[in-house]
Amino acid sequence: MIHTLLWNANYIDAEGQLQNHKNIEITDGVITAISDYVDGMILPEANEAIECKDFVVTPGLVNMHAHAAMNIFKGIAEDASAEEWFNDLIWPYESKMTDEDVYLGTKLAIAEMVSHGVTSFADHYFGEKQVLKAVHETGIRADIAPTIFGLAGNVTERLTEVADLVDKYNGLDSRVHVRFGPHSPYTCPEPYLTEIVNTAKAHKAGIHLHISETEEQVRQSMAAHGKTPFQVSYEAGCFDINCLVAHGLWVEDEDLKYLGKDTWFGFCGKTYMKLAMGNGGIYRNREKLNFSFGTDGGASSNTLDILEQARTFALIGKYIGNDPTTYEISYIWKHLMDGHRALGFNTGKVEVGVEADLVIWDLKRVNTFPVYNPLTALLYSADASNARYTMVKGNFLKYDGKLTCVNEAELLADVQAAHAKLLARGKGKAIVFY
Ligand SMILES: [Zn+2]
Repeated sequence: MIHTLLWNANYIDAEGQLQNHKNIEITDGVITAISDYVDGMILPEANEAIECKDFVVTPGLVNMHAHAAMNIFKGIAEDASAEEWFNDLIWPYESKMTDEDVYLGTKLAIAEMVSHGVTSFADHYFGEKQVLKAVHETGIRADIAPTIFGLAGNVTERLTEVADLVDKYNGLDSRVHVRFGPHSPYTCPEPYLTEIVNTAKAHKAGIHLHISETEEQVRQSMAAHGKTPFQVSYEAGCFDINCLVAHGLWVEDEDLKYLGKDTWFGFCGKTYMKLAMGNGGIYRNREKLNFSFGTDGGASSNTLDILEQARTFALIGKYIGNDPTTYEISYIWKHLMDGHRALGFNTGKVEVGVEADLVIWDLKRVNTFPVYNPLTALLYSADASNARYTMVKGNFLKYDGKLTCVNEAELLADVQAAHAKLLARGKGKAIVFY
């Protein structure tokens, strides 16, 4: 039995309220008791006790949409249009990616996420065995959607591979879920998308796909099918099950009727700004959507800092709406925490019975001090240096400011070598086109 005590802690509860002077007990990865701390009291026994009076404890952060392995490409495609970014840079390099690139890129991404206080992420990529290896070795929580490109062929074979992983992992460990990852309606047109969704239904799994990322995708879908990408996805059954919509930036008003109660948007604002993707319907329709935040891949967002993405959403919203009173701090925090609901793990609350995915924030630092409201400090001022401890299911992945889930020096040396080989191999031929 591993018993950890966070004593004299200040924590932020599910409603975003600060609770002071509490002892939080964690046993075998689950929060087992929360009690009042009183000066001079005899503390509950524990294998490890951390005094938290100068810290703020929150549930861990969730990254709703990532292509973790793409950290290996961070900085490779800059100042490019979306078409050039995919067709001339990213997809040609990806076509020559090795298992080692996927593994190291994912491990690098996990290390970066943990450093920022991210405790779970929804990944969308191929090479899933390497992704799973990195997830197991580091101890992070993950929802993994192996990517399926309908237009690349071999869909039946690919579906069998993914279904085998779904059957193997779902229910095995509460820390790892697998779902189906059709890339998008434009790379998985009918009848592939329906086939993928029907397989997901049969295996009681969710799906994760890109929908209506750009205005041009909506225009092309209308020209080809007379339907928006959301309508195409709806007709394939995507919204009958738990569905993570990557981006959905250009959701149209008439698309809202297609969405299900378990349809979740992962908003990745930094990518939209960087690739100049415009002001889609997600802003005006936000009150009618379930959404949280994602980072997208490191090649488009350059960081996997989920606080930065939440902040970016608020800033874009205030700016384009010309109203500084909107996108309030409590509203952004609620949506940040909604990532836990979207992924369906037993996490996201500082409450007895909930798995202990927690971050201990040190806000007594020059970038965040003084603290009038800890949520303000977190959303508008904090960075990775403030995430002092990151815990997943009771295990510390970052401890007292230092990553413990990886050997950082070794990882950077391995990435350096892989990066040199990747550049030497150069670009191949993309298997799909944007
Ligand atoms: Zn994406």
